[in-house]
Amino acid sequence: MNTSDKKDLRSIEYSEMEQLVLSLSEKRFRAAQIYDWLHKKLVPGLDDMTNVPASLKDKLSEGYMIYSAGIVRMQESSVDGTRKYLFKLHDGNLIESVFMRYEHGNSVCISTQAGCRMGCRFCASTIDGLARNLTSGEMLAQIYGIMKDTGERISNVVTMGSGEPLDNYDEVLSFIRMLTDEHGLNISQRNVTVSTCGLVPEMRRLADENLSITLALSLHAGNDDKRRELMPIANKYTLDEIMDACRYYFDRTGRRMTFEYSLVGGVNDTGSDVKELVKLLSGMNCHVNLIPVNPVKERKYVQSERSAVKAFKNKLEKNNINVTIRREMGRDIDGACGQLRRRVLDENT
Ligand code: SAH
Repeated sequence: MNTSDKKDLRSIEYSEMEQLVLSLSEKRFRAAQIYDWLHKKLVPGLDDMTNVPASLKDKLSEGYMIYSAGIVRMQESSVDGTRKYLFKLHDGNLIESVFMRYEHGNSVCISTQAGCRMGCRFCASTIDGLARNLTSGEMLAQIYGIMKDTGERISNVVTMGSGEPLDNYDEVLSFIRMLTDEHGLNISQRNVTVSTCGLVPEMRRLADENLSITLALSLHAGNDDKRRELMPIANKYTLDEIMDACRYYFDRTGRRMTFEYSLVGGVNDTGSDVKELVKLLSGMNCHVNLIPVNPVKERKYVQSERSAVKAFKNKLEKNNINVTIRREMGRDIDGACGQLRRRVLDENT
């Protein structure tokens, strides 16, 4: 079998691993051993699994390999210690992840796809379109690589790197199950956030999965026309449909929705913009995360004035809407989605 046809062993969930070893005529406890090596001891290869018999490793290596994700660059912010990592995957694709220290613990922001096909106008990840989906193991590998590099624990995970997680639904769900599995890192589901540009059918599907993760919706505008200018996906789903799906998510899971709103100078940060947002969200149990847009070289958008950001926030608060301004982490290290990857790709062409 060609290496490229082999499956990613790190992408196999615990119950599947049991089935796999049984199908290879091995004892069930071997699954626990292998899973432990992969997801707790974080070894890079089958050779490192010292208590697994060579015969089993041979059988496994016929159909499986552990997809590599090596760190090729790391930039640490001198301002806040945020670290941006660039990983090279086994097929040469580059992806990036961010490590952030907060008072309540360390957080990692992972990529779910190499590139993205959603086309949001202000975002660097989408400029070259989608290269491919990541496997669940490649999503885990970003976290494991960062844990090994920093020697620190990770308590929060968000899917706010490159890619649209709900456009890679099955792998992202498998990733969440493994990340929160007691046999693995055992991160609390409450500390996992999936961020989406608003794929309505998948948001509803996610609501029915019986998970207690947070869903963040990238709103960026309070009416359909303006949203269409910023996000092509808004041509497919209206705000009415999206807000219905958000209410459904809350009803099914009891989890408060987060709305992300990237403030773009003169585009979506005016008094009438915030008025529309208030109208859209009033009466909802939610949280708004304001993100001053991170200017991307290839895009023409600029940040809002400080005073506009403040006024926007105040207006939301006056209307009893929970709001925070996202701490601008890692501005000095190409912090925004897809920026580091693009810069390295540019350097190499
Ligand atoms: N596809 C997912 C994850 C994207 S990244 C989604 O759309 O939610 C996480 C957030 O950062 C999204 O809200 C995205 O719209 C926003 N974002 C992307 N590029 C940005 C930039 N240059 N400045 C500010 N926010 C940006």
